[in-house]
Amino acid sequence: RKKAIIVGSGIAGLAAAIRLRKLNFDVQVYEINDSPGGKLTEMHKNGYRFDCGPSLFTMPQFVEELFELSGKDTSRYFEYIKKEQICNYFYEDGTRFVAHADQIKFAKTAAEVFEDTEAQVLKYLQRSKEKYDLTSALFLEKSLHKLSTYFSNDTIKAISKIGTLDIDKSLDQVNRKRFHDPRLIQLFNRYATYNGSSPYLTPGIMSMIPHLEQHYGTFFPKGGMYSITKGLFELATDLGVVFYFNTRVDEIIVEKNKVTGVVINKEIIEADIIVSNMDIVPTYQKLLPHQKAPHKIIQQPRSSSALIFYWGIRKTFQELDLHNIFFSENYKKEFECLFDKKEVHSDPTVYINITSKNETKDAPKGCENWFVMINVPNNQGQNWDEIIESSRKNIVKKLSRILKVTIEDLIETEEILDPRKIESNTQSYQGSLYGSSSNNKYAAFLRHPNFSRKIKNLYFCGGSVHPGGGIPLCLLSGKIVSELVQKDFKTQIV
Ligand code: FAD
Repeated sequence: RKKAIIVGSGIAGLAAAIRLRKLNFDVQVYEINDSPGGKLTEMHKNGYRFDCGPSLFTMPQFVEELFELSGKDTSRYFEYIKKEQICNYFYEDGTRFVAHADQIKFAKTAAEVFEDTEAQVLKYLQRSKEKYDLTSALFLEKSLHKLSTYFSNDTIKAISKIGTLDIDKSLDQVNRKRFHDPRLIQLFNRYATYNGSSPYLTPGIMSMIPHLEQHYGTFFPKGGMYSITKGLFELATDLGVVFYFNTRVDEIIVEKNKVTGVVINKEIIEADIIVSNMDIVPTYQKLLPHQKAPHKIIQQPRSSSALIFYWGIRKTFQELDLHNIFFSENYKKEFECLFDKKEVHSDPTVYINITSKNETKDAPKGCENWFVMINVPNNQGQNWDEIIESSRKNIVKKLSRILKVTIEDLIETEEILDPRKIESNTQSYQGSLYGSSSNNKYAAFLRHPNFSRKIKNLYFCGGSVHPGGGIPLCLLSGKIVSELVQKDFKTQIV
């Protein structure tokens, strides 16, 4: 059997490990941390459980695929439910809006709350679907860096309809054209943050993202988001993938433009192929110090990062659900702060995720586990301690005002995650959540390919390479890697 080494056990590393095992490789995964998951981990504190990173689960079919491929019953490893309500929105002017999963209900309630019609909302969602259907096969599911991709029917169809994709407008411009009510525009502008970008810069094609929520739905994994990591880790282990935790890969060895193994603690471990799930920037800087890095690609501006307060709250709130958004009053100013000034706005949009709404054991009785997150710039050496202190005050003030209760008195336990920690915990360059940002119409083409053009048998997966960040896309990057390996090694799924 051929041997594959995977550097890192993030969600993409796990997906690649499972798929390469199914291609009959011996697979070893090396991970710096003491457990798998990278950004997708959990934490327990004083009777509370918190998911540390991702909180929104979409496109579960990409997780299911891995169990199906392995001939296993998904429900033995991992279960999830579909959410009827997607998100509760709170506006500074007192407006409250519950986004339903059902499209008709969503459009109907939107027309009741906002000054746009049901038909406008449904038309927008239809356009969102058309954009997704036209482009997903090209931009998400295949390597964008192989000539064969450009000769497929999907590509020719997408290119022939390029004028309808709104690539030359910003997401905000598209939303302004479709709606009158600034609150509804703000709601649809928010989807830019799903890949850490600004609605005022990211191209209008991103208006396809609502389709993922409104058509495919949003889901909650039983036991919380960490169950995704746990399920895939167990599957990989059952298939025979071998994991080494607390183990840092120090270098990838390249001989005659071909990988031959890795260096760990000065020891050489040989392999036929290497897949790096480490962020692409430190992969070049640390693991490939003697290779010329593709500077244009790795210098692309990074996506935003996050500041998160994990609060144990001594009260339950009927008006809140799993996902809750408290919008800033001036969205444009908030994003200018984030992306132009690299600062944090004094009135940030606050996201609260409460898994104890679905999983009561995540918090003591009568309490809730609040994951309180604001978007912040990626790490450029800002004074984070100062930012944490001022943001905490602003968040507490905003939530207390809108929820009409003194939040500070209810916080009985607290942990904090900031861009510095995201960077040190997962080696993510500048602590960005989603690799490079999509604040540019060419962004999709400026992500690193899933393979090395210069070094044979070296592959890349994860949020910093094609097709981008977020759980679904990371899972797809693992899939693209396995398809490339399958072609390169002419192997079959066993
Ligand atoms: P990572 O999670 O980045 O993991 C990489 C792993 O590699 C780490 O475990 C690291 O320790 C290991 N590693 C690195 N270098 C080495 C080395 N040299 N040797 C050994 N091991 C190494 N996505 C969503 O879909 N929905 C959300 O709601 C969402 N919200 C988010 C909120 C936050 C706060 C964060 C941080 C992210 C969020 N994301 C969300 C994004 C999502 O978490 C990521 O895109 C995804 O988890 C990244 O996975 P990855 O495979 O790229 O690897």
